[in-house]
Amino acid sequence: MTELQGKVAVVTGSTSGIGLGIARALAGAGAHLVLNGFGDAPAIASLRERLVGEFKVRVRYDGADLAKPAEVRALIERSAAELGAVDILVNNAGIQHVASIEEFADDRWDAVIAINLSANFHAIKAALPLMRRRGWGRIINISSAHGLVASAQKVAYVAAKHGVLGLTKVVALETATTPITCNAICPGWVLTPLVQKQIDDLARQEKLAPEEAKRRLLAEKQPSGEFATPEQIGELALFLCSDAAAQIRGAALSIDGAWTAQ
Ligand code: NAD
Repeated sequence: MTELQGKVAVVTGSTSGIGLGIARALAGAGAHLVLNGFGDAPAIASLRERLVGEFKVRVRYDGADLAKPAEVRALIERSAAELGAVDILVNNAGIQHVASIEEFADDRWDAVIAINLSANFHAIKAALPLMRRRGWGRIINISSAHGLVASAQKVAYVAAKHGVLGLTKVVALETATTPITCNAICPGWVLTPLVQKQIDDLARQEKLAPEEAKRRLLAEKQPSGEFATPEQIGELALFLCSDAAAQIRGAALSIDGAWTAQ
């Protein structure tokens, strides 16, 4: 059992999907949490209360918009000021946009790169000095199967997720002789709101029933024919926080139903 009692974890984009799965796994091991992401204010307040009740940890919500570097820095500063540290940083927030490169709107490119790649840089830059001072740290960047291989129609996402793996390796080298590690997780399809939107689009375009659209999406990329779950990704993130993972550094860990084995 990994023990994270007294540690503080900032998980970006944790109001939903994979980020929430990771936040729950870390809180389950005793870490205090900073939740971040968008959503309906009463729903976020009740999520916060549920996590406090279930895991008996401190949970702070911060609505920083990660498309804005100053807000990313402020997220880290406020987390340290209010919970006393940033020991674990999970850069998870991400968006998708699907279009061919000729049709790809410039502002969508900028937004995907800002949230999926640059926010990781700004958050790590702000959090690393705090981790060095405390003499321990775990940085986990949520990349994607699209950090290792490409798909058509996703130019900004694929570029950002490949960039996340480069960033991860550099940070791992610059912290290699310290008790701070930096790794990336590369999920395949996980059934979250981000993917549900792509299933809905496919069902509409091809006039498919929702279940058939789901099957088609999986069949195209993920040989297991099954989605990975936010809980499974949470458990992998938790393992990366353990002592057993102290020498996993600069790695890109796939959890993709053999997508990138092909
Ligand atoms: P999701 O849409 O369920 O969650 C995304 C989270 O990011 C939400 O909490 C949202 O509010 C937050 N967010 C979006 N824009 C933000 C911004 N500007 N500032 C702050 N927060 C913002 O998506 P998900 O599927 O859970 O994705 C989480 C991460 O996992 C993303 O980086 C995504 O690229 C990656 N990923 C997802 C899959 C998948 O199949 N779902 C596969 C591989 C990688």
